[in-house]
Amino acid sequence: MFLSTHALAGIIISQHVHNVPEAFGLGVLSHYVLDMIPHGDENLGAWVKEKLVRRLPITFLTDMGFLALFIATVRIKNEWPQPHLALAAIIGAMLPDLIWSGYDLYRMFIIKHFPTARHYIQQVTRLETFFEHHERLHKWFHTRINKRVTFKVGLAMQAVLAGALLYASVR
Ligand SMILES: [Zn+2]
Repeated sequence: MFLSTHALAGIIISQHVHNVPEAFGLGVLSHYVLDMIPHGDENLGAWVKEKLVRRLPITFLTDMGFLALFIATVRIKNEWPQPHLALAAIIGAMLPDLIWSGYDLYRMFIIKHFPTARHYIQQVTRLETFFEHHERLHKWFHTRINKRVTFKVGLAMQAVLAGALLYASVR
């Protein structure tokens, strides 16, 4: 699911809570709940990796463009929550995918090119163990509803979902 869709859920959460831990915690939780909705972009990662240098910036910037648009809309409608709460909730809501991408980068660069450093990083921080546990957790939520949808259907569903979340955040 796109980061901007998750971030919208974070914005809504931050409109209803009063402290940073709450905003952040509920943000993280909302990520896993939204990920349960079949969203058809399972192959997007593989598609991006095929031409990483070109496709990663395009995908990321499109996603962030939508996020900027959502934030601008909420601000124009004067429903923008307190900045520190919004930031905490948005980061929380995007975090599981950032960790997931972090694991990909870790596999592609550290594991592949620096096997010795990998050994020490794992010894000292247990980073790889953490990544593996998180990977399982993330996947668990993705596979709760066993319904596969195509990329196009998933995209349409996400557009509806994002529209509904945006509506909820400014009404
Ligand atoms: Zn996710």
